Formats: sequence, C-alpha cells, structure tokens
Amino acid sequence: MTPLARILADRIREAGPLTVADYMADCLLHPVHGYYTTRDPFGAGGDFTTAPEISQMFGELFGLAIAQAWIDRGAPSPFTLAELGPGRGTLMADILRATRGVPGFHAAARLTLVEASPRLRQLQGETLAAFRPVWADRIEALPEAPLFLIANEFLDALPIRQFQRGPQGWQERLIGLRDDALTFGLSAFLTQVPDTPAFRHAPDPALVEDSLPARLAVAAVSARIARHGGVAYWIDYGGWRSGGDTLQALRQHKPDDPLAHPGEADLTAHVDFEPLAALAQAFAYDTQGAVLSRLGIDARAERLARNLTGAALESHRAAHRRLTDPSEMGSLFKVLAATSAGAPMPPGFA
Ligand code: SAH
Repeated sequence: MTPLARILADRIREAGPLTVADYMADCLLHPVHGYYTTRDPFGAGGDFTTAPEISQMFGELFGLAIAQAWIDRGAPSPFTLAELGPGRGTLMADILRATRGVPGFHAAARLTLVEASPRLRQLQGETLAAFRPVWADRIEALPEAPLFLIANEFLDALPIRQFQRGPQGWQERLIGLRDDALTFGLSAFLTQVPDTPAFRHAPDPALVEDSLPARLAVAAVSARIARHGGVAYWIDYGGWRSGGDTLQALRQHKPDDPLAHPGEADLTAHVDFEPLAALAQAFAYDTQGAVLSRLGIDARAERLARNLTGAALESHRAAHRRLTDPSEMGSLFKVLAATSAGAPMPPGFA
C-alpha cells in the first residue's frame, strides 16, 4: 500500500466512496504524496515521455505556428504567451528558440506559465530563466490581453468522472473499499448527468466520461480569446465522442492498474474534444500527424538530418516517425486550435 492509498482508505471509511475525479485529483496533486507534486516524471528514468521530449521539432513547429498566428492578428503588443502544464519547460524553450528571428515577437511577449507542481515550477524556472516567466496559479488569473497559448498533455491530467448507463438508468463509478483494498463500485441511480453531447448521444449500455475541469479550462481560455483575440493550441490524446473507460495508469513506462499505486503512477484519461471545441467562438481540429505535416515537419526533419550521422540520425528518424506515424502518436493525438469569431485560420489547418 502506498502512503496515499492509506490516507484515501481512511477517508473512505470516514466519509464514504470517492468519485474517480476526487481520486485522480489526489493521486496527481496531493500536496505531500501527489504524483506531480513530488517528481519529474519525464524521460527514460521516469514514467512516460511526451512529444516535446521526443524531438525539438515539435516545439519549433508550434512556435512558428504561434508566431504566424500572432502576425496574422496584427502583431498585438503586449500579448500573453502562455503554456499550461509546461512539464520540464522543454516545449516553451523550443518555441522561444524557434521564434527568436520573428521581428518584435519576443519583445511583445509576456511569458506566463500555469503549473500546479512546485517541483516542476522550479525546473521550468531554471530552463526559462532568460525569459523571466511569471506563474499564474489558475487559468482564470491569466492577464486580460491578447492570448497565444499552448497546452500539450495538460487536459489528459485533469480529473474525470465516469458514468455508467444500464437498463435501469445512470450510475456514477465510485472508488470504495473491499477487504481494505481500493475497489471500483457504483453509486445509487442518478436523476441527472452532465449535459454534454456524449451523454445526450450515449448508447445503452454505455460508459461515459466527463471532465468538468477540462471544460472550465477551455472555457476560461476561450473567453480571454473572445475578448482580446489570440489562438490556443490544445494537443492531447483522445477523440471526438469516443466513449468507454479510458482511465489509465502508467508507471515506469508500463501500464498499471489505476488503483494499485496511488501517487506513484501517472493517471490520465483520453480527452473528449467535442464539448471543448463547442466552448470556442471558432475552432479547427485534426490529428497531430496531419497538423505537423502542414506545419512542415518533413522539410524540418530533412534539414536537421543533414547534420546527423549514425545513431543520432537513426534516433532523429525514429522521433520523426513517432510524432507523425498513424501507428504511433500521429493519429491518437489530436490538435484543437481555438480562436475568435471571424479571425484567420490558425496555421496547421487546411
Ligand atoms: N506539457 C508537458 C508536460 C505534460 S504532463 C509536456 O508535454 O512534456 C502534465 C503537466 O501538467 C505537468 O507539468 C503537471 O504538473 C501539470 N498539471 C497537471 N494538473 C495540473 C493542474 N490542475 N493545474 C496546473 N498544472 C497541472
């Protein structure tokens, strides 16, 4: 039993079962035992890796896309350059390096990061010191200004609730105790479920997930963009009303039982982009592979390959494949670009 499992078991004995969202929130961000609170989970020594950690091309291409979107919107100055859940700061470092030559972009940018983990804030501060980032505690605290924002694998870390539909109606999936071990169970029948397309169109039987924090995050960003202009790129794994149980735990690069090691495994869920897209005044949506291809990843990969040989060249080619190939991250990962009504199409979309 992990220390967090003992705390949660005591809480369940005292106050009854937890929702999946309550469980996820504590597993990831409990102030003492939370997964992100206590560690740097990225890379070979960690539990998982992400697109910006796989190749510098990811951040370079999205950096140039953001700079182009900024130019297309009249190069507002000052503007907020923001990232949600910046991890090690690698993505933003690549964005800033790639946009050095864009006239006026760095001078106008106010770099703002939203990060819950003190440990990761410190790492981000070291990586991005030259750009004097400020941290906002909440998305709602982003400045009232034009907003150009990126969030890679942020939404998948936000808590979800799970609802199950059977012949007698809807129940919520809860986490309780059996023989002192955490176990899944079901609530009493519900008179109400969230009002999103996934619920309105759910088959019978069905398991449907909903992330209220994800909807609030996208709503807060979209509201800033509606008022002041800008673009947000939301990149994550998931789909459009895909449905089913997608709660997953990853520990040392291997799938784990989500209830087995609370606080010691990464816990995520697939993102349902449909209710999120509806919160923007205008949006575009496609696979990561298609978007990176339109942003010019093949030409950029060739350019970088010219200076590489041997194992370095091999790993560069593998990284290119990993980001774009449909059998790797190319199709599972999606990009939702949100902007304001009547504004130009964000770069990367047809
Ligand atoms: N974007 C990075 C890291 C992805 S991991 C990359 O692509 O490599 C998820 C990130 O979101 C971590 O930095 C984590 O600490 C942060 N995070 C998770 N939940 C959060 C929340 N509720 N508020 C702010 N940051 C959060």
